Amino acid sequence: MTPVTTEKEFVCSVCGTPSTHTILAVNEPPQGVPDLDLRPDLPHRNYLRYWVMECPCCGYCNSMLDVPADFSRDYVESDEYKNASGLSGQNQTADRMIRKALGCVKNHSYKEAVQSYLYASWLFDDDNNDASASACRRAAVRIYDEHPAAFRGDDNFKVLMADMIRRSGDFQRVVREYEGKAFRSQLMTAIAFFEVQLASREDKAAHRADEVPGVTAK
Ligand SMILES: [Zn+2]
Repeated sequence: MTPVTTEKEFVCSVCGTPSTHTILAVNEPPQGVPDLDLRPDLPHRNYLRYWVMECPCCGYCNSMLDVPADFSRDYVESDEYKNASGLSGQNQTADRMIRKALGCVKNHSYKEAVQSYLYASWLFDDDNNDASASACRRAAVRIYDEHPAAFRGDDNFKVLMADMIRRSGDFQRVVREYEGKAFRSQLMTAIAFFEVQLASREDKAAHRADEVPGVTAK
């Protein structure tokens, strides 16, 4: 599967420098059944590198560089940002995703920050880099814990968290928080039930959505 791409210029909202980036011209939906955290199949995961861009001048990372930032160039040049919270130098796209997540937290875009850490964890999963994948999932869970108001009432994120908590290795928390829990949607309740089953047997692996009892592949 070859993505259809095009070139486009963006002006960095942090430093004002224009630069040209390759973006997806057509957003092809994934074909197969996703994992429990909605991770798409491998061909589609190759698109991840088009979901984040980096300013060649200041290092600001976001889905699009002209997205306004609620922080100054000082933060983009801080050690935390440049080092991607200590996870830099292992996977270039994951680096950018983590820096995007850090910026999203500064921008109070907490759901987007969790998504960016999730994407970074997928990239590390494909590198068989379990330590960094788990670190990204733990960072996402921390954002979720520290900003409960941003996620209140959102069952999709609540159930996504069960997967991120389990896959970061905190099996007891999944059992403690999700056992017997009902959600508005039967599908979400079924996924949460399955997450508790997996956590009970300390299963840290990725599982596909069609493994959930009662859910069939499309
Ligand atoms: Zn810049």
